[in-house]
Amino acid sequence: MKAAILKAAKQPLQIEDAPQPRPSTDQVLLRVRACGVCRTDLHIIEGELPPRMEALIPGHQIVGDIVDGATPEFPLGTRVGVSWIGGIDGTCPYCRRGFENLCDAPVFTGYTVNGGYAEYAVARSDFVFELPSELDDLHAAPLLCAGIIGFRSLRVAGVEPGDRVGFFGFGASAHLTIAVLRSWNCEVYVSTRGASHRQLATTLGAAWVGSETDKPPVELDRALTFAPSGDVVIAALSSLRKGGVVAINAIHLDRIPQFDYDRLLWGERQIRSVANMTRSDARDFLKIAADIRLQPKVTVFSLDQANEALAAVKNDAIDGAAVIVP
Ligand SMILES: [Zn+2]
Ligand SMILES: [Zn+2]
Repeated sequence: MKAAILKAAKQPLQIEDAPQPRPSTDQVLLRVRACGVCRTDLHIIEGELPPRMEALIPGHQIVGDIVDGATPEFPLGTRVGVSWIGGIDGTCPYCRRGFENLCDAPVFTGYTVNGGYAEYAVARSDFVFELPSELDDLHAAPLLCAGIIGFRSLRVAGVEPGDRVGFFGFGASAHLTIAVLRSWNCEVYVSTRGASHRQLATTLGAAWVGSETDKPPVELDRALTFAPSGDVVIAALSSLRKGGVVAINAIHLDRIPQFDYDRLLWGERQIRSVANMTRSDARDFLKIAADIRLQPKVTVFSLDQANEALAAVKNDAIDGAAVIVP
């Protein structure tokens, strides 16, 4: 099969022939229909996350048809999605408490195991999600990481229908999450760099849009941050009402600057991080996405153009999401 393979950090992916994977007893074999490109793929390829495999096929937003390893739940031909969490141990203290997103020994698709920048991929059969027919391949792929994580951050922030919600940053995850909030009749206030991101936020129904240094004109019930910057967390906190929550949507932050506790955090304001996802986050979000006919903005690349797709994401050269179609 054809695949895009990372042989060494900071090197372009090599597009070449690779052996077709064989599913083990707990896996399904997928013929890949589409695979979304995520910023985490860039962190892996550029070596910011330490290498875990010698030759790696990246990609963790996979849409594929089951062509081997069918189960009673997923017969041959079922169209399923695969996300960043490709498995858990099920035995660690977090799994036993029901916090599978915090598992001590998770499998990461396209990082600790091969992913979907290829014609075929294997996935654990208990970590694939049947895709609703309302979502076509191209528009389902970006939902599988950016969308699910954005949805989880709404849960972590405790968003209620009708809330005033601030977004600090407006990338792939934010542009999906705003659609869910609009369907819950929430007002969304967006502070972000980049005229094109501000334009997109306006188009998608933001109540107010400003630059990254502009303060929303109202006190926020909840705030989500989408940039790897601690300054943004402080900006979010300083717009929050008493009892409000900031949910940080970033695996890595530069640092959080010193801030005034009395003014910014007292009054039962909270700062929480958002880590990974659970399978119920995935299933609940995909159902909502189908109900509201969520249509992410996508730009399609062929597998031969995998490096171009990554460059486009890195350079913010496209609005919305990049999707590779093998
Ligand atoms: Zn991702
Ligand atoms: Zn675990």
